[in-house]
Amino acid sequence: LWQRCLDRLGRDLTEQELNTWIRPLQVKADEQALRLMAPNRFVRDWVRDQFLRLIQEVVEEVSADPIPEVHLEIGSAGLKPRRSPSAEPAERRQQAPEARLGSRLVPDHTFENFIEGKSNQLARAAARQVAENPGQAYNPLFIYGGVGLGKTHLMHAVANRMLESNPKARIAYVHSERFVGDMVKALQHNTINDFKRLYRGLNALMIDDIQFFAGKERSQEEFFHTFNALLEGQQQVILTCDRYPKEVNGLEERLKSRFGWGLTVAIEPPELETSVAILIRKAAQDGVQLPDEVAFFIAQRIRSNVRELEGALRRVIANSRFTGQPITMDFTKEALRDLLALHEKLVTIDNIQKTVANYFKMGIKDLLGKRRSRSITRPRQIAMALAKELTNHSLPEIGEEFGGRDHTTVLHACRKVKELRETDTRIDDDYQNLLRTLTT
Ligand code: ADP
Ligand code: MG
Repeated sequence: LWQRCLDRLGRDLTEQELNTWIRPLQVKADEQALRLMAPNRFVRDWVRDQFLRLIQEVVEEVSADPIPEVHLEIGSAGLKPRRSPSAEPAERRQQAPEARLGSRLVPDHTFENFIEGKSNQLARAAARQVAENPGQAYNPLFIYGGVGLGKTHLMHAVANRMLESNPKARIAYVHSERFVGDMVKALQHNTINDFKRLYRGLNALMIDDIQFFAGKERSQEEFFHTFNALLEGQQQVILTCDRYPKEVNGLEERLKSRFGWGLTVAIEPPELETSVAILIRKAAQDGVQLPDEVAFFIAQRIRSNVRELEGALRRVIANSRFTGQPITMDFTKEALRDLLALHEKLVTIDNIQKTVANYFKMGIKDLLGKRRSRSITRPRQIAMALAKELTNHSLPEIGEEFGGRDHTTVLHACRKVKELRETDTRIDDDYQNLLRTLTT
């Protein structure tokens, strides 16, 4: 019977899998039962998690009635169960890496300290749900968005909350680069099996910035299996990425599609009100009462992400402490002068208009005017799209600068240019050239 099973398994498993996991099993078979003996616990767990279901199916397929039950045990077909010599060290080694699994959590990264705004509402609510019902709510939870928008903070918040309600929960938070590094080390030291087992024994696995998995095939492979094992065991998986998963090049399709099985949420750059709230709250945590106008001033100028906001705030507070001066508007402008210059000088709309007009050999008048021939509207649309991409101006503000156009016109231009760049390489080249000219 077992030989037929093996033949049949050979169709679904690789030769390597057969040799590593299946052939070493010793077998005792009778009418009622097929007993598979694994040399140690690790092999048993692995076979159970990876292959048992398949083995059961195969047994059903190849045996006549009555179908024997499949038992998987530790031991050998001989007399009493014994441990293979190699099992001992493997199990002792397990202790050490376990302590190191993942990175430390930041205790301050909690839900309480995470300020909610429209930009992060969905992500926060989803993370909250997951923290309250790990493995039950959304699995995996996939959070994506640009740098400094609070992805890592939210992940830690989930972990901190889970540990609060269950201090024994086994949670690993790892940056994907660390995951890759640890795996490479495990391969070198021949401890890859321990590595695998550790990851699979978790209640929750959080991997940060998975865009770094791109192109790392072996890691993706390993991660894929770990991921599946965890999902099957209803253990929570949380992932973050700096962009929408489907847009990460060099990531296997099967991973991408699986990421979509749970919930995928975006986290956007904070809108003005959220930024202001964050600034006031962080200042208060530092014992500083930040005047509203100062908070608005900083928030208006630093729009890209929360980390930069924090940096600016820290600078203002430090300067104020150092000089003993109160935080006024003038003081803030002075303290942030070089930082703001950087943000503002970066690119102005005026600058964009001149550069685009120049590039397409046309006059600024036409660019901003009313004429609607294609040779003029294209550059105009490109200029608007560049203004949206490179400055912090809002759509209405950009429209205003482009001859008093409506914000919907600007929005349309941005969409149109995006679409054209995807279909027309010449336009994409133009756009890239302009981007380069403007930013370097
Ligand atoms: P990401 O992982 O998305 O790059 P982080 O989670 O590291 O960003 O966030 C950057 C910094 O901004 C952290 O110090 C974090 O605490 C803070 N932060 C981000 N979003 C918020 C928020 N909504 N409320 C409070 N702090 C935030
Ligand atoms: Mg992060």
